[in-house]
Amino acid sequence: MMNILKNIKLFFLIAALLMANMVGAQDSRPNILVVLCDDLGYNDVGFNGSTDIKTPELDKLARGGTIFTSAYVAHPFCGPSRSAIMTGRYPHFTGTAYNLFQNSSEEDKDNMGIPVEETYMSKVLQDAGYYTGAVGKWHLGAAPKYHPNHRGFDNFYGFLGGGHEYFPGKYQITYQEQLKAGNKNIRDYLKPLEHNGKDVKETEYLTDAFSREAIRNIKTAAEKKKPFFVYLAYNAPHVPLQAKAEDLKKFANIKDKDRRTYAAMVYAVDRGVGQIIKTLKETKQYGNTLIVFLSDNGGNTDHGANNYPLKGTKGDTWEGGYRVPMFFHWPNKIVGRSHFDFPVSALDLYPTFVQMAKANIPQGKRVDGRDIMSDVLAGTDFYSDQMIYALRYREGYSDVGGRKGDWKITRMGNEPWRLHNLKEDIGEKKNLSGKYPELLQTMVSEMENWTRDFVRPLWFYSEKDLEYWTDGRMPRYDETFEINKLVTHPYKN
Ligand code: CA
Repeated sequence: MMNILKNIKLFFLIAALLMANMVGAQDSRPNILVVLCDDLGYNDVGFNGSTDIKTPELDKLARGGTIFTSAYVAHPFCGPSRSAIMTGRYPHFTGTAYNLFQNSSEEDKDNMGIPVEETYMSKVLQDAGYYTGAVGKWHLGAAPKYHPNHRGFDNFYGFLGGGHEYFPGKYQITYQEQLKAGNKNIRDYLKPLEHNGKDVKETEYLTDAFSREAIRNIKTAAEKKKPFFVYLAYNAPHVPLQAKAEDLKKFANIKDKDRRTYAAMVYAVDRGVGQIIKTLKETKQYGNTLIVFLSDNGGNTDHGANNYPLKGTKGDTWEGGYRVPMFFHWPNKIVGRSHFDFPVSALDLYPTFVQMAKANIPQGKRVDGRDIMSDVLAGTDFYSDQMIYALRYREGYSDVGGRKGDWKITRMGNEPWRLHNLKEDIGEKKNLSGKYPELLQTMVSEMENWTRDFVRPLWFYSEKDLEYWTDGRMPRYDETFEINKLVTHPYKN
């Protein structure tokens, strides 16, 4: 008996070694490059109709791949949206539906981040043999256990906070001055960039630095003969609006100063993507690389962005808050489908990537999206029977939005519920709630059910919010899902 067991063990050992060898020798699994912009509006790229911002490189990729006209992120602002991309879960289920703060105090830092129990997509890909690199903005926790190097990234270059100044020649001087002055609470936006936990002295305009580092990751993976997963999270065109003179020159015709600077910042991303494409071609990885381009939330229309034809702005649950520009580009696989108009969610990226890497979602881990690749290739609608949600906690009430098929329900602040047919009314102008009260009721009830499993946020924006959660008024507040009640903000003050 013992002998048989030994032989079986030996057999599996040899089989495992053979398989590992095969993977090493001819790993044909695709590379994955995510290019994530920060606060980029729906109309701020050429491929979505921008007439003043030029994005020739992105447009070329978009037109050679598939443009998603109804792509949603899981939350209308930065941190929770990124948490959802990395974990594959709505942030309300992981306690991360608020942004992390600037300069969280040291004692808080250890509890401020996305729970380590939620395995990131990067970790799954790393374990599956991918070379993994994160570049740019993190915003998912600054304590060591939340650091990219502990969350599945072989390599990290960037900053851990929620934003950053763009010109090292300026922010480094300000940082030194504040250090000398004994400021113990220096803004994240001024701190040195880091490479795998060590401060670096960056010399380039931030967007250019991040393009450069993405290229470095791609070259390293080629040398290692490994497929790669690169998460390139530009902080552009998030404020502060700061652009290079050479890029600004291209947009001298734009009169509004904010818009001009914003356009130049987007153009810098485009230039960088052009360089990255050149590297992919040089290293012969271009054909077998899936490039996913998207924004983490809608554009901020107070700071140069344009979400036309969508209503609303970053942070709200009108379409403009969380419907984003997005495309897939993968020459070996995706050809001949220029547009995909059915809804997709950034939550779908996790299971899609895992499938592409021939890996498995960790046992016991839940994901809220699904592998969409075959539907994208076939042009089929897989969300016709499932709602895509957005809910933002305000103090004392919530903004909510839910899309199913062509229909969307929206409740913003103390306004009554609205119902729109997005196919005919993408700008959410014509409220059809009076015409289809039953449809409204069904969708609102479905949305309410979705909130039943929300968990307590790990951090709150305010003492008031914490109080509302503790006494049970959050997460639903009495009025939010009551169609005939107006939200009166009774808890304010
Ligand atoms: Ca953002």
